Amino acid sequence: MERETRPARARPAAAEPRRILLVEDEPRVRELMRLFLERAGFAVTGIGDGHLALESFDEDPPDLIVVDLGLPGLAGEALIEAIREVSTVPIVVASAKRTDRDRIDAFRRGVDDYVTKPFNPVELVARVQAILRRVGPIDARSDRRLSFADGRLVVEPMVRRFVCDGRAGRLTPTETRVLLGMASTPGIVVDRERLLAIATRGTSETTRTVDVHVANLRRKLGDDAAAPWAIETVPQAGYRWIATPDREDRTGTARPAEATAP
Ligand code: CA
Repeated sequence: MERETRPARARPAAAEPRRILLVEDEPRVRELMRLFLERAGFAVTGIGDGHLALESFDEDPPDLIVVDLGLPGLAGEALIEAIREVSTVPIVVASAKRTDRDRIDAFRRGVDDYVTKPFNPVELVARVQAILRRVGPIDARSDRRLSFADGRLVVEPMVRRFVCDGRAGRLTPTETRVLLGMASTPGIVVDRERLLAIATRGTSETTRTVDVHVANLRRKLGDDAAAPWAIETVPQAGYRWIATPDREDRTGTARPAEATAP
């Protein structure tokens, strides 16, 4: 697709509608929300299942996500956590859960706003518009570009692209999570259990899985396990990211140290 291949910044901000991933399992509520959001000029993808929503996000990251918490498949809370591991895309919760605890938990997971059901759809639209105004004209899907080793490696987590030694390539969603899981704490050993949890979101696989993903990352980055510049193996412990983060990315909007900040 043209959108995939053209540099995001070359596109005028208003050239195409902002895209919203709407995750709500109650069809009548979903269609009502869709109606109001589309009337406000947004392009809306409506999905009623947490796992399918995550697949959709991985395939085609939107500009903003509106998410219910009580969802079949993957619960809204787990969906938010999975997205926050790789992305700072704005997230608005729209849920019947209304206690302070529910709201505080959601904000701690990194959501940007929270509306409780029942809500006025006009208010939801206004909140979405307010957040996207704050995000500004920068394409929300490319708001983070992480650079390492004086630009030797540049990673765009939201679109899972990288350029390394002048070669462009793509990462799988899992490779992206594993890379961020290491690179967000450069110089610090991350144990394989922690990386496994990041890579598989708690599904039961052995830590050998992590080794496979790390090996794939090394191959894509042209890193050598015997003489690494990016990923160092620490026997009996785990892996350590050793490529120095560059202080400021090229867009001036992100710093590697923020990679896992909620
Ligand atoms: Ca629900």
